[in-house]
Amino acid sequence: MHTPLCKHAVGEPEEYAQVAWERGLKGITITCHSPLPEGISASVRMDEAELPRYFEMVARAREAWEGRLEVWLGMESDFFPGTERYVENLHGQADFQYVLGSVHPHIKEYRTRYYDGDWTEFHRAYFQSLGDAAESGLFDCLAHPDIVKIWVRNIGMWRSCGRISCGHWIGWRRRVWPWN
Ligand SMILES: [Zn+2]
Ligand SMILES: [Zn+2]
Repeated sequence: MHTPLCKHAVGEPEEYAQVAWERGLKGITITCHSPLPEGISASVRMDEAELPRYFEMVARAREAWEGRLEVWLGMESDFFPGTERYVENLHGQADFQYVLGSVHPHIKEYRTRYYDGDWTEFHRAYFQSLGDAAESGLFDCLAHPDIVKIWVRNIGMWRSCGRISCGHWIGWRRRVWPWN
């Protein structure tokens, strides 16, 4: 579950907890998007300076729901090759109860590094990153490992638009791609 800190979600952890409780769940884990160094995909994640606020948000929900619903502190933490030390340090900054590892092949920095017009090679790079993420030992599990498949199926849309931030792409993404 996200928080507004990642800039593409709405709702405070308490609100998610409320819905979870109404639906009979015993607990939830908040897994908002981790910060990354050097401004990598900064528009869809919290800033490093916001980490204390993130921890406070989750702690507040935990306290509010104590005894009724468990609220765990987690994170959706990116695996972007070369940032492993940063990520390791990040994971040491709090007592995380569950850390999802994610490779997001659609972010500009990943595409710039690994896509040169050959989609087969791009997919190879993606699954190599995914394997490296698994072997890094940095994460409790990997999120959406097949996310790159959706990308391929809709590649015509991406190509025709040219710019990742264009209206067509955003519109398509909102319709069929709720994950990030
Ligand atoms: Zn993700
Ligand atoms: Zn997201």
